[in-house]
Amino acid sequence: MNIPKIIQEQKSYFAAQQTKDISKRKQLLKNLLTEITKREKDVITALYADFKKSEYESLMTETSIVISELRRTIKKINTWAKPQSVMPAFLNFPSSSKIYKEPYGAVLVISPWNYPYQLAFAPLIGAIAAGNTVVLKPSELTPNTSRITKEIIEAVFDKNHVSVVEGGVDISTELLAQRWDYIFFTGSVTVGKIVAKAAAQFLTPVTLELGGKNPCIIDESANIKLAAKRIVWGKLINGGQTCIAPDYLLIHAAVKDKFVEYYQKEVTKAYGDNPENSKDYPRIINQRNFDRLVIMLENEDILTGGKTNKEDNYISPTLIDEPSLDSEVMKGEIFGPISPVISYQTAEDINKIISHYEKPLALYVFTKKKRFANKMIANYSFGGGTINDTTVHFANHNLPFGGVGESGVGAYHGKQTFDVFSHKKGVTKRYNWLDIPVRYAPYKGKLKILKTFMKYFS
Ligand code: NAD
Repeated sequence: MNIPKIIQEQKSYFAAQQTKDISKRKQLLKNLLTEITKREKDVITALYADFKKSEYESLMTETSIVISELRRTIKKINTWAKPQSVMPAFLNFPSSSKIYKEPYGAVLVISPWNYPYQLAFAPLIGAIAAGNTVVLKPSELTPNTSRITKEIIEAVFDKNHVSVVEGGVDISTELLAQRWDYIFFTGSVTVGKIVAKAAAQFLTPVTLELGGKNPCIIDESANIKLAAKRIVWGKLINGGQTCIAPDYLLIHAAVKDKFVEYYQKEVTKAYGDNPENSKDYPRIINQRNFDRLVIMLENEDILTGGKTNKEDNYISPTLIDEPSLDSEVMKGEIFGPISPVISYQTAEDINKIISHYEKPLALYVFTKKKRFANKMIANYSFGGGTINDTTVHFANHNLPFGGVGESGVGAYHGKQTFDVFSHKKGVTKRYNWLDIPVRYAPYKGKLKILKTFMKYFS
């Protein structure tokens, strides 16, 4: 595979204005929608083959999200792409001003394995809608889904417009060594830093959608039964391998026992007495991640779960009792079906724990007290979050989705995805019917007029 050649051809295609026509972009997105709808069953089969992701979860968290993102983009593309008029500056009188949405050019999208379909297509749709060319590097850990993704794209796009380059770290490294006009990366913090470094070499703008250690706070006023149900859902969907899954549970000591009891009940309700036999319970993606998670269980007090099966990368839904902040499970992002339970008494206890970590991608707070919720939202910096539920802020395309600090740079979803891939070019148009002489040299005798102007009109 000749990576420099692929990019060169895409750059020539872009320079020849082949990606700019909005009706053509729209038609290609419609073609993509047709192809994606046609291949939906194949995608679901591939996701199951990759990590036993159920048909239901594949529909809910992968294919339906891509379809709705596509439908919205097709409906709105004309409005989003239109130059936006803004108020002119009085000092430029007479004039008008507009913001033009200009595609960056050659975009590189690198996606992870955990939502391998959705997280490849969501940025790709925005990049195409905004008029860019794209090279997509899907994850090597989900080969079946990556193959279907490649087939779908090859059925719709000229390779000079969109190309899928499959491969692992070596291919990714080679791609990152090239000069891009924009890089959109979703993955771990460690690799995010590698991407940022590579981009800095050419001052290439980036979006980094990373991970973090997401706190989930449950205070004593919360509806504990409902909280347990919603946490079980948000934590265990995709086998806990979700960037915005609640990572550790901070529970008021007075309601801890009650919560643990409901958690166990909700797990049984969702996945039966033995989740290993449930068709709805996914597996850990590979042996390396399975081993990483198993180490977290060692020497800890298990409140519930803790069962593993190496043959099948299975780890049961698990609660760990009061691990220390130095323990394996509290060191970094868990990214699996294990939840540490840490009880607190006061707001200072909460503060001590949350401020021990980098800014997370998400934060959740379960409470009936508005003031408590507001305080948690205001006190801590995090990418985004939900009050009285987990992960569902993701589903609102009007909300920006992205991290802050170590959990990421930039945000997307809905119109914001289009904007991410568009440079905003501000242009002022002057009119010729009046030319106020005050700004031109010689300046002698004009200072007073200038000062008056600045006072009233700047
Ligand atoms: P990862 O960082 O290991 O891999 C992501 C991509 O980068 C893959 O395509 C991979 O091939 C490539 N890659 C891996 N190592 C590389 C290297 N050394 N140099 C260049 N490229 C490299 O992440 P992952 O395991 O696929 O996904 C899990 C991580 O992604 C978690 O940390 C999770 O929180 C995060 N994530 C974030 C979001 C978000 O929207 N913020 C969404 C999903 C996952």
